Amino acid sequence: LLTQFSSSGRELPPHLKTAIDKLSAEHPTGISLAQLESPMMKQFAAVKEEVPDSLIFFRMGDFFELFGIDAVLASDICSLTLTSRDKNSENPVPMAGVPVVAYKSCLRKCVAAGFKVTVCDQVEDPKTAKGIVRREIVRIATPAVPGDFDNDDTEITGQGCYLACIISDKNLFTLAYVDVATGEFRVTGGLALEVCVREIQTLVPREILVAADKVSETIAQMRQLFQIPPRVSALEPWVLRSQPDCLRIFKEFFKEKLPTHFGLEAFAGGLTAAAGILSYLKQSQRGILSNLTRIETYFVLNHLLIDDATRRHLDFFQTTTGERRGSLYWFLNHCVTATGSRYLARRLNYPFKDSKRIESALKCVKELRSESTSRRNLEAELRQTADLDRLLSRAAQGYIDPKSLCWMRQTLESLPKLFLFLNQHQGLQNLNSEAQILLGSKISVDSQDTASTSWAENLVLLCSFLNESIDADPAAILGKGGRIFKLGFNANLDEIISLETNIDTLISKLEENERNKTGISSLKIGYTRAFGYYFEISKGKAAQAPAHFIRKQTLTTGERFITEELKELEERILSASDERLALEKELFELVRLRVVEFADALTSASQFIAWLDCTRNFAEIAEKYSWCQPQISDKNVTWLRDCVHPVLKAMALTDEAFVPNTLFVGDASGLSDEVRKQFANSIENSAEVILITGPNMAGKSTLMRQAALAQVMFQIGCPVPAAQGVLGVCDRIFTRIGSGDFALRNQSTFMVEMLETAHMLRHATSQSLLLMDEIGRGTSTYDGLSLAWAILEDLHDRVKARALFSTHYHEILEVAASRPGIKAMKMEVLERERKMPDGSRKWDIVFTRQFTPGAAGKSYGLHVAEMAGLQSNIVAR
Ligand code: ADP
Ligand code: MG
Repeated sequence: LLTQFSSSGRELPPHLKTAIDKLSAEHPTGISLAQLESPMMKQFAAVKEEVPDSLIFFRMGDFFELFGIDAVLASDICSLTLTSRDKNSENPVPMAGVPVVAYKSCLRKCVAAGFKVTVCDQVEDPKTAKGIVRREIVRIATPAVPGDFDNDDTEITGQGCYLACIISDKNLFTLAYVDVATGEFRVTGGLALEVCVREIQTLVPREILVAADKVSETIAQMRQLFQIPPRVSALEPWVLRSQPDCLRIFKEFFKEKLPTHFGLEAFAGGLTAAAGILSYLKQSQRGILSNLTRIETYFVLNHLLIDDATRRHLDFFQTTTGERRGSLYWFLNHCVTATGSRYLARRLNYPFKDSKRIESALKCVKELRSESTSRRNLEAELRQTADLDRLLSRAAQGYIDPKSLCWMRQTLESLPKLFLFLNQHQGLQNLNSEAQILLGSKISVDSQDTASTSWAENLVLLCSFLNESIDADPAAILGKGGRIFKLGFNANLDEIISLETNIDTLISKLEENERNKTGISSLKIGYTRAFGYYFEISKGKAAQAPAHFIRKQTLTTGERFITEELKELEERILSASDERLALEKELFELVRLRVVEFADALTSASQFIAWLDCTRNFAEIAEKYSWCQPQISDKNVTWLRDCVHPVLKAMALTDEAFVPNTLFVGDASGLSDEVRKQFANSIENSAEVILITGPNMAGKSTLMRQAALAQVMFQIGCPVPAAQGVLGVCDRIFTRIGSGDFALRNQSTFMVEMLETAHMLRHATSQSLLLMDEIGRGTSTYDGLSLAWAILEDLHDRVKARALFSTHYHEILEVAASRPGIKAMKMEVLERERKMPDGSRKWDIVFTRQFTPGAAGKSYGLHVAEMAGLQSNIVAR
């Protein structure tokens, strides 16, 4: 627990350090054995023994209490007061408590700090309990599986809440990960360390499971990678030892399906990694149903690889200042469904590398682009759908409420309309057939259609079941009055409800009777939770109360009475409502179990909605910004006519309009005549390596980013921000742009620059896209120049990748002069002579933002300095 505490980057204040020092060494809880003798502390110790690596929230009356070391740590994490139990004893037990009503926020804080938390509640009424109250573990919350917290945060960032398991075999790694809140479960393998690290950086898991002997090593590695490192726990030893046991737990979760059903055999440790996750979930989730219905296996190398540094350089999910606004994801995400947004985030992390998939994705977008009315209709229909993944997960974990089932039903009702939409539009053939591939079957509106698939049939079944069971507009929670279930769903329930309404009528009748009999017009029947039903008579008339009225309470405004008859009615009401609540709970549980049975079909439906929404989203923004449908080439080319930086252009931070530029990089040989004709003017400016010069602030870095962004957008099947584009698929994108803040990792910027460059040169292939921005800046001129020079030569002569190489070392142009594969381009600036008020003349520069052939003659450093207001004597000097 202490290790976990310090690995979350916390440090104990002095008074708590003292408290830790005072803990007893006799027991892992830090409590002396003598203190653990009492029946209640025995109960506590038993729970601790069951889940030793967790903080125990132990219910005592109106509080959850923490004891021993748990109390010390939690008092810091949740700012609780540290007290002690048995203050006068020799070794008082440190204790910290939180009121039951407020415990969830504490639980959340502890989980966020990387702790596992065990909630141990009273499971019998203390009033009726004989001896000590029975307590049981009711919940174990861990960082990756916290339970019923809202997941708003992961929704906005597009990041999942992952529990990962890493199995290493010599130098290769297998990785499994799951997001219990959405049911996403994926496995990949055959990963070299470098690729595995890249995956972990992509996922940002909350928890990682590794072999016990790898735990401390992994903790150290995670601290290098993340500011808030994930919790690292040890796998249960049997997972690594016994394949039959792994298979058993696997079959238990996946309804007797075999690992081969999901292609897990493709990876050496595939089953082990999956079983590691399942056993951890089983152990920590206790009796919770599973919404996990499938595992997706994938090969990392089938995707465009973008390493973490590049993602940051390109502002994928947040800008360099850490804001979501302005990031690529923020800009591209106008999905109207949460599943769609998650799907988009996933595509950004795993863009396609197969040109066929890109092509069909782009075709689907194209179809929707040309159908603006149907696109609007589609949007409206998609807005009617709910997040089936999360609803299913909540049903499985037991947190679902009646309203959520209503949304689920509404979503299921929308599905046939979505199918109909695809089936009916002539112009959407690609979209329709893609949907069928996605769902592995023909989609059909007609459930009688024999060709229609079982999953669609299943959803029809579920929908009608929900229609029969759940009321059209059910009450938000059970047992607070209001209907949950439809009339006719359960005869017993209907009877109880009619009895209840009957008694209600009887009460009104009684009120009327007594009023008539006594002639007191102000007499009325009221109800409070504390007193139950009563007659109330206003002050002035209270004396006229009949004899059978029993006085109960005196208020300033009147008197309250009961009668035998009223009391009897009240008892009948109470027992009816108790009965009703019990029955409703039972029925609701029944419905919940039934819903979870449809997990597989619901997951399919959700994937379908996500894909459709994301495709619609791409069509919508492409139309809005007039992006082009790129032409796919099998050559290593990134050719973009009049290309812009989508986010900078749209956000228009300055009043300067964004100037589009034409950029050709890659292998121009072997392009079709048609393309040659189209791009006749610019083909001569194309080369594998483009060497870019131009003064500071001219727009070099922006242009390079534009190329990479367009490439990524192309490979997620999105139109690109240019007037025209011819693009060939990339296997990896590397960037070396600007200086990152790595102070945390204790590495100098120059060191990082060289690390990233070495990494790039080691892994780049001729199919990669490289962005090298002013390499060699962080060291002395001659060192820097020499490095840049040699790197450029190596890029061109050996790597032969598409590369954009910007530099402020004009000497390097010499490398280009002798190599036709390197083309010198510049960001154009104009020199302008300006007359000053005192009659003197000054040279000024104007950034035209035009990307033109040739080299910038000079670096204009003094001009820029002068424009920035650097004192003239210094500039002159
Ligand atoms: P460099 O890398 O050459 O120093 P940057 O790429 O950082 O220059 O660009 C500097 C600024 O110029 C950017 O912040 C951006 O606002 C602006 N800019 C860059 N390219 C363009 C363009 N094509 N049109 C308009 N403004 C641009
Ligand atoms: Mg720059």
